[in-house]
Amino acid sequence: MVDGVADVVVVGGGIIGLTTAIRLQERGRRVVVVTADGLLSTTSATAAAVWFPVATGTDSRVADWSATAFAEFARQARDGVPGVSMRSTRMPAHERQSEGLPWWGAAVPDLRPLTAAERGPDCAGGWSFTAPAVEMPLYLPWLLGRFTDNGGEIVHRRLDTLGRAGDWAPVVVNATGLGARRLCDDQAVHPVRGQLVLVRNPGLPSSTRIQDDPAGYTYIHPRSTDVVLGGTFEEDDWNTTPDPATAEAILARCTAHVPALREARVLRHAVGLRPARHGGPRLEADPDGRIVHNYGHGGAGVTLSWGCADTAAELVVTAAG
Ligand SMILES: Cc1cc2nc3c(=O)[nH]c(=O)nc-3n(C[C@H](O)[C@H](O)[C@H](O)COP(=O)(O)OP(=O)(O)OC[C@H]3O[C@@H](n4cnc5c(N)ncnc54)[C@H](O)[C@@H]3O)c2cc1C
Repeated sequence: MVDGVADVVVVGGGIIGLTTAIRLQERGRRVVVVTADGLLSTTSATAAAVWFPVATGTDSRVADWSATAFAEFARQARDGVPGVSMRSTRMPAHERQSEGLPWWGAAVPDLRPLTAAERGPDCAGGWSFTAPAVEMPLYLPWLLGRFTDNGGEIVHRRLDTLGRAGDWAPVVVNATGLGARRLCDDQAVHPVRGQLVLVRNPGLPSSTRIQDDPAGYTYIHPRSTDVVLGGTFEEDDWNTTPDPATAEAILARCTAHVPALREARVLRHAVGLRPARHGGPRLEADPDGRIVHNYGHGGAGVTLSWGCADTAAELVVTAAG
């Protein structure tokens, strides 16, 4: 199907595959994206998709990737790219924080500690900041359009091996998320289940994020017409059916933090499986340079996307000589 027409085949059409494909096109490469799933059936489409490096593992490059993506999304928000906005965020913390900026703070221009009044009596600290928020059902089609407008081709096919893609182009990018567990026999890749409740937006202007809520991981992310309420972080759970009791618990936690949500109509329940990897994302070339891996971004694939795309594109260009 794509013999001879591509310099690179990117396997995976989620946020990681598409951003990498676009960066490769910007470097003059002819790119085909192969995807098993439709655009809006990927994990990327389910993401709350707010910039924050959640549980990103120990890779020292994470801060740079996050900062690059922050700057890119901020630029896209200024340019009016569909689905991209900058959202003020309140992040109260129950645990007392160490002195100075958090490790991710250098990327965030207006980061400041919450005042005692802002964080409330139960919390010992926390941060106020503005961060990119990406409405994926609007943004992913825009990304795909940018890719195809640049001459990119999409092929809908589930591959049994990455070697198959290697028949079509000299270099393959593996951006298959959770699919990499089987395609690369990488047992470090595992799902982290996330359940969400989407409610009508009663006019909330800002996000709330409580990473260490004793009642459970909690976030409230308003979008143009709805609010994404979360969440759960369930390691090694493959169940994609929303659980009613979990949904009730999410609603209870979120309305306790933001009472304005009490009357908000529930629109939809959703579950996504974060493509996590013990040790953090894998972003490297195979020794023969024919496959560049870019997978395992867990709960931060949007946050790391453009930064990882730059690194992956550089690896491809270096590999191809
Ligand atoms: C509930 C929830 C909330 C989240 N919130 C945030 C957030 O606020 N901020 C943030 O940064 N991140 C968030 N994430 C994480 C984010 O969604 C992921 O890190 C990101 O979507 C991973 O992107 P990806 O492109 O690697 O994977 P995916 O979107 O899963 O895409 C994988 C692609 O590979 C293809 N593929 C797989 N196997 C094969 C095969 N054998 N053959 C062909 N194609 C194949 C699939 O069809 C798909 O196109 C959230 C995730 C969940 C579930």
